Amino acid sequence: MRLDDTIAAYVDQVIRPAATAMAAGRGPRPDEVVREAAEWGLAGLLIPRTHGGAGATHLEFAGFIEAVARVCASSAVILDVHLSVGSEPLLLFGTDEQLRRTLPRLASGEWTGAFALTEAGSGSDAAALATRADRDGDGYRLTGSKAFITNCGAAGVYLVMARTGPGTRGITAFIVDADSPGLQAGEPLHKMGLAGSWTGELILDGVPVGASNRLGEEGMGFRVAMAALDSGRVGISAQAVGIAQGCVDDVVSHRAGLDGRTDETLLADIHSRVVASRLLTRQAAQLADAGMPLTREAAIAKLYATDTCVAAAHAAVELCAPDSAGRDHPVATRMRDAKASQIYEGTNQVQRLVIARALLLD
Ligand SMILES: Cc1cc2nc3c(=O)[nH]c(=O)nc-3n(C[C@H](O)[C@H](O)[C@H](O)COP(=O)(O)OP(=O)(O)OC[C@H]3O[C@@H](n4cnc5c(N)ncnc54)[C@H](O)[C@@H]3O)c2cc1C
Repeated sequence: MRLDDTIAAYVDQVIRPAATAMAAGRGPRPDEVVREAAEWGLAGLLIPRTHGGAGATHLEFAGFIEAVARVCASSAVILDVHLSVGSEPLLLFGTDEQLRRTLPRLASGEWTGAFALTEAGSGSDAAALATRADRDGDGYRLTGSKAFITNCGAAGVYLVMARTGPGTRGITAFIVDADSPGLQAGEPLHKMGLAGSWTGELILDGVPVGASNRLGEEGMGFRVAMAALDSGRVGISAQAVGIAQGCVDDVVSHRAGLDGRTDETLLADIHSRVVASRLLTRQAAQLADAGMPLTREAAIAKLYATDTCVAAAHAAVELCAPDSAGRDHPVATRMRDAKASQIYEGTNQVQRLVIARALLLD
């Protein structure tokens, strides 16, 4: 079967039937979502076939996340984090031995991936993180806590950024097995939206990590994190495009309730913005596929697509009124789900800084 056909069948047979339960926080656990995706060959989309993955392109990955988000934004963020920031840093920075040890487990769904950068005291200013990695014999002990970690409590492996020295060059990336002693996941937060996706605190209390689980050299962790976020933003843009397209779908199905030219103008505006967002997302994905720098283009796609997604959800709530006032109406769910896309993987204020700095440094 062609990848597009597999994705369409998977969305219809797996994602759609569970979407209402996911939106209410009563769906399958995130690791079950990943395991089910693995049965369709979709949990290792970006992982090469030699390591058990599908060897797909970033363009295909973006198409996958959009297709899932159009139906269920919670499933999309679970899968996006697993496939991109939870796995891709391994592809970019892992040794052959690390790739052999980790990628097949991620691709088979045995492990769900997670990416742990944010802390209570360091979000946008990620370089201020305080979690320590103290040398202990040949290895390290990790001590600190991470906040707002997607797939926390369901992941089999966490990519954790911790401090081995002062400043930005004192950050190091680690591959941390969820079964490690001293690692504990807090209860998932009760969020405004994305109820099916778990977001929580990751507590590290002297967690032993062998030197073979250091990802990249000591002091390279900030580079690892920023590279992860560049391609991660392609996934978040795709998620936003999917949510926004879902809003357009809902308004079109509600066509009998539309009221004249003003409503048509609003529908046309959001549809046009969705199309533009998709093109920006594809542009960033193609740069990733070509191995070219994508920091600026990924930030542009993320900024535009996630702002579009929030605007589309607002418009859809207006256009589907009064039914949309109901908590469980599809556009009400999309409106709650949309907001986080402007916050995670760098807030949109931060994307603007990234874009401006890229222009001024050119
Ligand atoms: C649902 C969800 C899932 C998440 N998943 C993950 C995850 O899996 N892994 C992970 O590591 N993190 C994750 N995060 C954390 C997310 O990346 C951070 O919330 C985000 O980076 C912002 O950090 P902060 O919340 O500390 O806000 P702050 O950095 O405190 O920012 C507060 C406000 O100030 C603005 N601001 C800050 N600095 C500047 C500046 N220099 N110029 C202009 N404005 C500025 C921000 O834009 C924001 O509006 C997740 C967050 C959410 C909500």
